[in-house]
Amino acid sequence: MPARIDEEDELVCLGHGEENGGALTPPIFQSALFAQPSLGRLAAGLASEHDHRLYSRGNNPTVGAVEAKLARLERGEACRCLASGMAAVSAVLSSLLVAGDHVLVVNQVYGPTLELLRRLERLGVRHDVTLELDPAAVAAALEKETKLLWLESPGTMLFRTVDVAALSALARARGIVTVLDNSWATPLFQKPLTRGVDLVVHSATKYLGGHSDVVAGAVVGSAARLERLFHDALLLDGGVLSPFDAWLLNRGLRTLPVRMRRHHESGLAVARFLAAHPRVRRVFHPALEAAAPGSLTGFSGLLSFDLGTASWDDLARFVDRLRRFRIGVSWGGVESLVLTPNRGGNAAALAAQGIPPALVRLSVGLEPPDVLIADLEQALSEP
Ligand SMILES: *Cc1c(COP(=O)(O)O)cnc(C)c1O
Repeated sequence: MPARIDEEDELVCLGHGEENGGALTPPIFQSALFAQPSLGRLAAGLASEHDHRLYSRGNNPTVGAVEAKLARLERGEACRCLASGMAAVSAVLSSLLVAGDHVLVVNQVYGPTLELLRRLERLGVRHDVTLELDPAAVAAALEKETKLLWLESPGTMLFRTVDVAALSALARARGIVTVLDNSWATPLFQKPLTRGVDLVVHSATKYLGGHSDVVAGAVVGSAARLERLFHDALLLDGGVLSPFDAWLLNRGLRTLPVRMRRHHESGLAVARFLAAHPRVRRVFHPALEAAAPGSLTGFSGLLSFDLGTASWDDLARFVDRLRRFRIGVSWGGVESLVLTPNRGGNAAALAAQGIPPALVRLSVGLEPPDVLIADLEQALSEP
């Protein structure tokens, strides 16, 4: 299946509609504060800081430009960018939850998100994780105190997808807020807000920035929800994005459609090669899932496979033999990367998450796919 990207979205990414006095590249407003024409205007601004330009911990025009773009791409009314994906996750949790609340996490999700939820137990916020994704199982795991349904789809490491519309509908019927981490698909390939999700979070460090040169995060949703997030979390926690990083993120967005098409095609080519290789036990990629990936219009280049060995040394030898895949955390940049969640002593913790011990995760970059496949072939050909 070819990737489908909305034409209007392509223009938004390219910067059509941006007004910068003829400059093709938007300026960087590297200023901590914005002087006001009168004391009255200052007082009025402080009374509703979310829509006034006073101080760059609240609003900055360079950050605002990329926020407007991301809101349009996600079909949300408003967006806030933050200093990292985790700052976005924290802002959402701290603005929505109070002691006594319960969070239901669905799917394998980003490790630090779970760690943060474990930390919140100290503040009286409980959580559970369900790896059973069908709506009946999720409904059964909801509690009277559940305030938040946390989704990641496709999920971390195994890239399993959930029925986004069904899960957000059952949450809404019970007054529960649904949040989806959309870092894997990007708004070009999945628009959760159009399927009933209340808030989308992103690690913009990954595909949105796309060049491994900026750490950033974003939250997108309705104007009312984002206004609350601004006052309750962003302005007080203070983890805002700097103007220069916002500018880099905006530059990354210009090539997002071109990059995502290439990641889609190369990721599928690598997945198919691996699926046909006798040494590979199983490939994890949403295109190879039994159920059709309902809300995706394309696939990114992050996938994994089970090398089917019980030996850490075999796993390490395979990874070390790769030449075109650099060894490193993170993903979504132009360069291909390889990683395993196996740290050499955590097989039990992985098994509890349903993750095989010899899982190899690849972030397929923009290199010619044949070069990447040849590299995998040589690394797989030795025992
Ligand atoms: C990386 C990542 C995050 C955290 O983003 P940072 O920018 O590293 O803070 C959150 N969710 C997912 C799915 C991620 O991969």
